[in-house]
Amino acid sequence: RKFIFVTGGVMSGLGKGITAASTGRLLANAGFDVTAVKIDPYLNVDAGTMNPFQHGEVYVLKDGGEVDLDLGNYERFLDIDMTSDHNVTTGKVYRQVIEKERAGDYLGKTVQIIPHITDDIKRRVREAAAGSDVCIIEVGGTVGDIEGMPYLEALRQFAHEEDDDDILFAHVTLVPYSKNGEQKTKPTQHSVKELRSIGLQPDVLVGRCPDPLDAQTREKIALFCDVPHEAVFSNPDVEDIYHVPLRLQEEELDDYVMDYLGLEDEAAPVGQR
Ligand code: ADP
Repeated sequence: RKFIFVTGGVMSGLGKGITAASTGRLLANAGFDVTAVKIDPYLNVDAGTMNPFQHGEVYVLKDGGEVDLDLGNYERFLDIDMTSDHNVTTGKVYRQVIEKERAGDYLGKTVQIIPHITDDIKRRVREAAAGSDVCIIEVGGTVGDIEGMPYLEALRQFAHEEDDDDILFAHVTLVPYSKNGEQKTKPTQHSVKELRSIGLQPDVLVGRCPDPLDAQTREKIALFCDVPHEAVFSNPDVEDIYHVPLRLQEEELDDYVMDYLGLEDEAAPVGQR
């Protein structure tokens, strides 16, 4: 089984979820069973109690799970039905660990974020991925958020436990324009530096920018963030978000990801996708 972890840098509301869902769509087109997990680092157990004016309407899954709107993107882009196990929140994780502690399941041990919380996060990801070829795991929020730290540590451990070619880290960042019309890479460099400081090196970078990244911007991102220039993609503004998979396909993101994960031999021939 292959795991694609998607993190976001610089700011929220960038298009990380759409990028993750679109990557999943391209792999589904290539014939793979794709599922997704959305990690929401907030302390609410689920989105059912959250103010829709702040957070958008709650999305209800077929098992009655009240979850984040993003799960709706995954269901629509991937054409799958998900259950509430595909939405991991800090509330759910801590509740489970504290209930186990009260039941005496930790046999007198000191219960800690590492390993008890991180173990529960890894277990949830593995269970939600069961039965799929590829599982896309989106970490909500932005790298550097305090709430996200246990998740990024869990993913670091996860990558350590799995084979290198079963894991891909994709990082979505903002590439703004300066006043003189230049695409600026510094926010991307800083957010990758932050990721690397916690032991994560992105394998793929996706720049959100009003326009596709120009060749010079890609080269600069590749150099400073230590990825091959073929691993730098753009997700430009589009009128309709359902065009995002096509834009990413034009840049051959699907080929790069399948090649990286060793999936190309099993993929459907290009003409049949
Ligand atoms: P994040 O996961 O980073 O918070 P989302 O994927 O939920 O962000 O996207 C935030 C908003 O940006 C959504 O309204 C989405 O429709 C919009 N969006 C995402 N990608 C694009 C794009 N390429 N062009 C235009 N709008 C986009």
